[in-house]
Amino acid sequence: MMIERTLVLIKPDGVQRAVAGRIISRFEDVGLKLVAMKMVWVDEDFSKKHYAEHIEKPFYKGLESMITMGPVIAMTIEGVEAIALVRKMVGATEPKSSAPGTIRGDFAHVSYGYADEKGIGVKNLIHASADKKDAEIEVPLWFNDKEIHSYKTVHDAHILE
Ligand code: UDP
Ligand code: MG
Repeated sequence: MMIERTLVLIKPDGVQRAVAGRIISRFEDVGLKLVAMKMVWVDEDFSKKHYAEHIEKPFYKGLESMITMGPVIAMTIEGVEAIALVRKMVGATEPKSSAPGTIRGDFAHVSYGYADEKGIGVKNLIHASADKKDAEIEVPLWFNDKEIHSYKTVHDAHILE
């Protein structure tokens, strides 16, 4: 089955900059389907679950401060090979390096060097599951079955048939 689900977060910097709608529109524009959405203020415990792979890294403290500094908009997005496609649209982790046309490349510009010197997280607006294994862990971490909806969009006629 090539229809995949992936977890996307508009991180606190994206919510506070009021660009969530423009970011969500990009996913709608390519025909991806929003199947779950909610606003969540992450605490330190939940940050450690979501970013478990990074807890021991030197940047974790700054990352935790950033992800807990305000509410995030959490989404599950569905579509054909959606995990890799969404990562492509999100762009490279460091905004300085992410290509124009990607979300991080178009909405941010800071570098690792700058964030490290300041001792802060790299504010790059958005999180997306890195691969199939991460998506399978992250979607159920954020959403239970009842919060994920199956419905038809106008795109389905062209995608599924
Ligand atoms: N991050 C950071 N400093 C670093 C590396 C990462 O602040 O040196 C932050 C950044 O916000 C990034 C998040 O930690 O999005 C998770 O890092 P990861 O390497 O998983 O990048 P992503 O999967 O988000 O592209
Ligand atoms: Mg990651």
